Amino acid sequence: MTISDSRHPGAASPHPGSDSRHPGADATRPRVVFILGTGRSGSTVLDLLLGAHPDIQGVGELCNVVRGGWIGGQYCSCGRRTPECDFWQAVREQWRQESGGADPRHYEYLLQAFEQRRLSALRLAWTRRPDHLTLPARSGAEFRDYAEQTAALFRAIAAVSGRSIIVDSSKNPVRALALLRMDRDLGRIDLRLIHLVRDVRGFAWSNRKSFRKDEAKGVQADTSGRAIWRSALAWVFVNLASDYVRRGHDRRRTLLLKYEDLTSRPENALQALAGVVGVTADPWLEMLHAATPLRPGHVVAGNRVRMEREIRLRPDLEWQSRLSPADKRVCWMLAGWKAALYGYPMRPDQDRRSRGAAGQEADPPRAVPSGHPIPRPHFPRSAGKPPIEETARPPLHSHADG
Ligand SMILES: [Zn+2]
Repeated sequence: MTISDSRHPGAASPHPGSDSRHPGADATRPRVVFILGTGRSGSTVLDLLLGAHPDIQGVGELCNVVRGGWIGGQYCSCGRRTPECDFWQAVREQWRQESGGADPRHYEYLLQAFEQRRLSALRLAWTRRPDHLTLPARSGAEFRDYAEQTAALFRAIAAVSGRSIIVDSSKNPVRALALLRMDRDLGRIDLRLIHLVRDVRGFAWSNRKSFRKDEAKGVQADTSGRAIWRSALAWVFVNLASDYVRRGHDRRRTLLLKYEDLTSRPENALQALAGVVGVTADPWLEMLHAATPLRPGHVVAGNRVRMEREIRLRPDLEWQSRLSPADKRVCWMLAGWKAALYGYPMRPDQDRRSRGAAGQEADPPRAVPSGHPIPRPHFPRSAGKPPIEETARPPLHSHADG
């Protein structure tokens, strides 16, 4: 088992087949765009946005498709239950052929074995780097089965959709680690990692909401809100784990993206995404200029937003006015150090006022209702460096629920 050393920027590409001018040129090694990070960070919207490209198929949280969709019969975003959805029926049949007759229940067992979240904490804690991850011999053989069947599922989706690039918005860093091993150790996929981050206070506010079970609307079970302190700690933990996995991958195939940047400077963000995914941004930019709403295709698991007929990329400042000062303080006390590293300011509203006072035009603080149209681009197409950095940046105020 060899590990390509892609950590050195000057090293030749370990994957010459992944030429960006020929997306998905290697049909045996499908290109997978994995959205990594916490839930409630806009990943479902990003999944749909990426999937609006003619070369890309978005499928939501693929880690839940077998259990929730094929076995559990959850609703697909097309409005049918997954076992009755033509797309997922065809994918299942194609997967069975590609994998040499694999059984969904056994595959679900393998998914649990290698993506189980609590184990992830231990694995990530005990191994210094993903490529130092060692597994017992039995697990090694099972990991190969897991990798074969997972790669077969990606190939099946590509074959049925006719699109060579698959977006998986599962987010779980442990699944990302497993996919990273499939890329680096086994050469089964060509992995691109998008680490999506949202302001911890927006995340905590969104997590505090409760939902009643409504399967047809994409809510699988009654959900009670989570305490602010728990959300803040979870946010730190998942983002640390996501940083760790992202840094273990070839830098040219990873991107750290703030959801706030995606909604406030979509052109820059889309150009950066296009570079990492290896496609042209033109189809997305045309959609942006035409203010075309996003239409969900066949997304099985993911935020309830997937069940809406039309989805718009929208900034959302609700947390700023609805989260109490005490809760904001708790968030910042527990997670502020990490949020500051991503460039989030402690007091976005004050910062905005001071910018306004300095003579720059300040964004008015808005609590934006749902259905706000895709914002028109604020920057010319040729704007140089994308707004994706891990250092301090001006405050951006927006969020999404999914
Ligand atoms: Zn469907």
